[in-house]
Amino acid sequence: LTRVLVIGLDGGTFDVLLPLVKGGDMPNLAGLMKGTWSELTSTIPPFTAPAWATFMTGQNPGEHGVTGLIVKDGRYRARVANSTDVRSKDLWTYLSEKSKRVVVLNVPLTYPVKPLNGVLVSGFLTPPDAHDYTYPRNLLEDLGNPQGGYKLYADHVYEEGIEKLYISDISAMTRMRADLAERLLGDKSWDFFMIVFEGPDQLQHGLWRHLDFEGASSDDDLTEACRQYYRELDKIVGEIITMAGTDTLKIIASDHGFGPLKRFIHVNSWLIQKGFLKLKSKPITMLKRLLYSIGITPLGIYNMLLKLHLARVRAAVGRQQGRSLASKLFLSLDDVDWARTTAFSLGSMGQIFINTKPEYSQGIVDSKDSYLSLRKSIMEQLAGVRDPETGEEAVERLLSREDVYHGKMIKQMPDVVVVPKRGFVGFEELEFATNKVFTSPRGISGTHRMNGILVVDGPMTRALGKTEPHRIEDVFPTILCALGVPIPKGLDGHPMTELFESEFLTENPVRFEEPESATTATTSEEDDKKIMERLRSLGYVG
Ligand SMILES: [Zn+2]
Repeated sequence: LTRVLVIGLDGGTFDVLLPLVKGGDMPNLAGLMKGTWSELTSTIPPFTAPAWATFMTGQNPGEHGVTGLIVKDGRYRARVANSTDVRSKDLWTYLSEKSKRVVVLNVPLTYPVKPLNGVLVSGFLTPPDAHDYTYPRNLLEDLGNPQGGYKLYADHVYEEGIEKLYISDISAMTRMRADLAERLLGDKSWDFFMIVFEGPDQLQHGLWRHLDFEGASSDDDLTEACRQYYRELDKIVGEIITMAGTDTLKIIASDHGFGPLKRFIHVNSWLIQKGFLKLKSKPITMLKRLLYSIGITPLGIYNMLLKLHLARVRAAVGRQQGRSLASKLFLSLDDVDWARTTAFSLGSMGQIFINTKPEYSQGIVDSKDSYLSLRKSIMEQLAGVRDPETGEEAVERLLSREDVYHGKMIKQMPDVVVVPKRGFVGFEELEFATNKVFTSPRGISGTHRMNGILVVDGPMTRALGKTEPHRIEDVFPTILCALGVPIPKGLDGHPMTELFESEFLTENPVRFEEPESATTATTSEEDDKKIMERLRSLGYVG
């Protein structure tokens, strides 16, 4: 049997890649697209953590339990999701149990690392100062620790004015990841090899407005610098697929797509305006509320600083103790009067949770009827919400929890699922950053969309060209199918059998078997804090 190589391009979308392929800037990707390619539909919301969790488990978020960068608990606290929050067995654990040898590099949500049959280097959402992010622990030392120190995160955070530095930083990170991959590729003992590059996600958040490679901005200086990044990325793809060999099935995939970001929707501000979310009347809360009502908010301060050309202060304010200071000065979840609050938004790109009893410590919505009528009321009112600046409708679809999710973790899922229109995104707020429902982003110009990518090419597959979109949960069983490993029953994903030649399927019929259960452990609150700081500095959260 053959081997499987997956190259993950975080945030990869054909909206960016196709013009580059057509323009001859990505010949290696173009070569792979002579096989089969399609959009890969992400999870709802199309967020990095739930989407890679679905990729690595073949399950929907209602089953694996991860909805966002942060997950809720019953005490109105959010924290960063980690590998132990993935409540379904991941691909590499499963393959290890089947005695397949795996190499897993920089996949988000793989820290803390778990033992497996092979090697793993964790990725996005690893605490920035962690040293135990490899399996085995001394992997990098054993490899001679190339270039005197491996880095999981780039040094610079996007802000206007440092675009070129930001691009070269991402480019250096990409090269560093590729170098490690190439050292490990040389040893052909693996059956499954996966590496994720976060560069496209980072570049597209910051520089989306410069990525129109065939349009108005195509001769812009920064557009050219971005084009150069994708050329380098393509060269790396070429190096990796060459080293992986012709007997390897190659899959290029992304966790979610990308699109323009024009306006943030502050769902908590809307919930306050509509009376679903109530604030306490303690003196300190009233003072904060007064500041808030006249627009003196963390976002207000931030914008003021920008106006004063002190953008660099952002790093200090955002990354260090600024946040805890902010929660003392500005409205936070501590100021919410939970006993009078029926709904709130917490993480997950503006998704809404209903304050139910007994799920929450101060839950007040206690009957099925009141839950359903409240949910209906929220959905009806939010459906028509318009951006006051343009009159544009902001919400594409509103779905109830059970329309989107199913499985053992469904009670952790948001009650109202908000799918914004192109150009809008729910603000990732833990605190009340602004008293407005809509604000414009500062600096960044791109955000996640559902339109991910899938490219499949290899010895036993058919060349179907462009096909209808596939779903991200279908990748896991497809990889098992390619490796001749039985598929655990009860997955949400289905193997994409149409990709394989009929001879291959005759010799390797798709097999299913009863699944076994998974285990868990936890990370510390201190780690969570560090990751949250990192996410804020990346512009993911307020
Ligand atoms: Zn992502």
